[in-house]
Amino acid sequence: MTDTPRRTGATSEALYARARSVLAGGISHESRYAEAGPKYITRAAGARKWDVDGNEYVDYAMGSASLLLGHAHPDVIAAISEQLPLGTFYAGCHEREVEWGEAVQRLFPCAEQVRFTGTGTEATMLAVRLARAHSGRPKVLRFEGHYHGWHDYALMGSKPPFDTVPSLGVPPGAQASVVVVAPDIDRVDEVLGADPEIGSVICEVSGANYGCVPLPEGFLAGLREIATRREVVLIFDEVITGFRWSPGGLQARDGIVPDLTSLAKILTGGLPGGAVAGREPIMRLLDPAVTSSGLRPGVAHKGTFNASPMVAAAGVAALRHVATGDPQDHADAMASRLRQGMRGILGTHQVPGTVYGDSSTFHVYFGECRDGSVAGIPAARIRGAPKAVVGGIRAGMRSRGVDLMSYMSGVTSWAHGDGDIELTLAAFEDSVRELIGDGLLPLRAGDA
Ligand code: PMP
Repeated sequence: MTDTPRRTGATSEALYARARSVLAGGISHESRYAEAGPKYITRAAGARKWDVDGNEYVDYAMGSASLLLGHAHPDVIAAISEQLPLGTFYAGCHEREVEWGEAVQRLFPCAEQVRFTGTGTEATMLAVRLARAHSGRPKVLRFEGHYHGWHDYALMGSKPPFDTVPSLGVPPGAQASVVVVAPDIDRVDEVLGADPEIGSVICEVSGANYGCVPLPEGFLAGLREIATRREVVLIFDEVITGFRWSPGGLQARDGIVPDLTSLAKILTGGLPGGAVAGREPIMRLLDPAVTSSGLRPGVAHKGTFNASPMVAAAGVAALRHVATGDPQDHADAMASRLRQGMRGILGTHQVPGTVYGDSSTFHVYFGECRDGSVAGIPAARIRGAPKAVVGGIRAGMRSRGVDLMSYMSGVTSWAHGDGDIELTLAAFEDSVRELIGDGLLPLRAGDA
């Protein structure tokens, strides 16, 4: 398929021109912005998607990592189709939400109780509010470059430079309540010891940006020990790792159990939604039947579309497969083949760099690294490769029928097969060759 001529992007271009005059910035999520203009997608199935100009892509964005089972999985479609004629939304309680919560409870060690939210961002926002309420302390500790959504308490520290909030409009009070540190376990202990106002810690357990910057060995176990000793609420953001690293996320795989967890993406079978799961003494603060500090409930939480029946139906159907571990085993094997193949291509073309990643993720890194290891990449280097190289790889892969998730990274799914991997490796090799020809690779000293 790499030799198949790509059709033009004329229809996408026309749509983007229309979009620019109606949608702010022409888009609905800032990461969908592309200098060359976005591709407009009409259809997706399995590991593939098609744009309005008829171009086909092997997809490694997979619904921003929400589609572990692949696009349009027949059981998820069937569950949605069954629910559809019964009504799309009741703004009331229903059996599916109970079933869905029970599935989460069975899978996640920390999930003594569950509360559904509208998005992953809402999940981390609620988790932080619960943690502040339970600890009675206003500040939250977080790590450089970790992504927890886009609410006022999640932005500080999410992008370099980490001491500056990467958005206008975030009130100083919200900024001041977030303490940002590098993921260094001694530093965490020191900062918690020095600031009695910090009552919670939130961590993207893959490491920043779904593992683009891996955490140091033993870091999460260390964090658990410190949080317990210092009586700080430990929040694992498992929006990406939940259901992917294992059916019960990183916490089930590695046996490190937080106090609260934020979930989304795979949770919903690819529809909008999220959840907070956690220990009962904390989750009890959401119970309107219990008075906390004279308030019922102690912690406010609403959201019109929380656990809507359509989403719950899709979630229940997806989690039935997720619980078996089969989708994860397959997706992990595909990602491993991809990483290995891509590393081989860099070796063949003598381009210093590596391809790494945990579970069903992959990240391309250009630059010198010891023994192919990327441990110790500072968070500031998340977006370290020159823009022309990142853009070149992304555009090169796309023009050869492969769409990455973000930067030079992606995720695999249950639907990816050998043919997809072969096509992707050929597209990667051709793109690398092209960048070598353009003088962009290998990176020169100081570029990385
Ligand atoms: N936390 C993490 C780790 C995420 O990756 C994301 C989304 N990419 C979020 C939170 C926010 O989720 P949402 O986009 O559903 O608001």
